[in-house]
Amino acid sequence: MMMIGVDIGGSKIELAALDAAGAFVLRRRTPTPVGDYAATVEAVGDLVDAAERELGEGSSVGVATPGALSLATGRVKNANSTCLNGRALKQDLERRLGREVRLANDANCFALSEAIDGAARGARVVFGVILGTGVGGGIVVDRRVLEGANAIAGEWGHNPLPAPQPRDLPLPSCYCGRSGCIETYLSGPGLAADHARAGGERLAPEEIVVRGEAGDDACAATLARYEERLARALASVVNVLDPDAIVLGGGLSNVARLYDGVPRLWGAHVFSDQVRTRLLAPVHGDSSGVRGAAWLWEQDRLLEDAAPPGGAPRGPVTLREITAENIDRVGEVRVVGEQRFHVASVAKTFWQARGRDDLWMRAIYAGEDPVGFVCLRVRDDEAYIARLIVDFRHQGRGYGHEAIRQLIAHARTLPGCNRVTLSHVPSNARVARLYGRFGFRHTGIVDEEGEIEMRLDLA
Ligand SMILES: [Zn+2]
Repeated sequence: MMMIGVDIGGSKIELAALDAAGAFVLRRRTPTPVGDYAATVEAVGDLVDAAERELGEGSSVGVATPGALSLATGRVKNANSTCLNGRALKQDLERRLGREVRLANDANCFALSEAIDGAARGARVVFGVILGTGVGGGIVVDRRVLEGANAIAGEWGHNPLPAPQPRDLPLPSCYCGRSGCIETYLSGPGLAADHARAGGERLAPEEIVVRGEAGDDACAATLARYEERLARALASVVNVLDPDAIVLGGGLSNVARLYDGVPRLWGAHVFSDQVRTRLLAPVHGDSSGVRGAAWLWEQDRLLEDAAPPGGAPRGPVTLREITAENIDRVGEVRVVGEQRFHVASVAKTFWQARGRDDLWMRAIYAGEDPVGFVCLRVRDDEAYIARLIVDFRHQGRGYGHEAIRQLIAHARTLPGCNRVTLSHVPSNARVARLYGRFGFRHTGIVDEEGEIEMRLDLA
């Protein structure tokens, strides 16, 4: 089923259709009928109708909106596109489109997009931050948006800037009625106002960034203050949520120095001797709204698709729950405590895009108990990508050998297969030696996580 995501922005409404592997199939946009609610609903409906006609098939529809859905009334609140506020947008879109529609605010969609197949892919707890005209945020846990009891989870922009210092005073007043909100310092307008307060020229935020990075002293000093405040503000999020990854989005996520500078500074404010949280630049940029909106349905379906028909284990499951009958249908597998191997995400790329027939999986048994598994898929006519997982409690006892042996034996039975490629091999010497014993050699390819690719020629 095709997934459509719609992003209702202040000036344009964007639509994207994604296939099951997350690739763009079609993208369209139309100007937002500013200030006209009925026309906004109609414009979304028309975009979806036209896309489905063009695609020749139905789709699921997810929508990114500014603001949040009030749980009390089911209506939009806190939106800066104010014609949406107080409106029953979800019900009105459902009536127009004749189906259930999922809605989430744009920050949540950003966080979901980056958590599912973006910068924070594979991380369990992700905080997505919008640093733009306003400051917002969204939380994704185990690839699902955390909405919260008040539908404001992740909305940190109107918390006070923590640990104010003399140079933060007087506290700037905020449109929300409070003073010293994080947004008044860390939004684009907040950055520009701070530059002016420090005696600088009145400049657009983008201009301050460009000049600061080019070495202009006053602009560089403003960026340094921004960086230090961002470190303080994010440290308080780390203290509460303790996320695995924080992904920056919005216009100010383009400030390159933040990714080194902030993690250097936030340790002083985080209640831990070391901070393992990663601060990441976004992968999908301006496409995050439509992508995250489209994934609003997929966040359930990834697991449903992967579940066996007999109602057997849905992810995450432990290796013990895997049987020879269900091995090719399980969702996520919990391997080592917090670390998980996303079979569902592999499956998404492997069998939904390529057809399940290409995928071969086998459990590795210790007596009756599955303790690991190995999978292999056709990449082209001759090469294969393989993965292998052994429960850490059983590592070092020969099961890795057994998995590699089965993998190679299976590859040799495949007509036309003359080499096996292992992706995502942890780059530690012990693992590399293990594969090396079977003749695998490092291809020289290393991914962003530091994992390596290894290859065995069968000829
Ligand atoms: Zn405020």
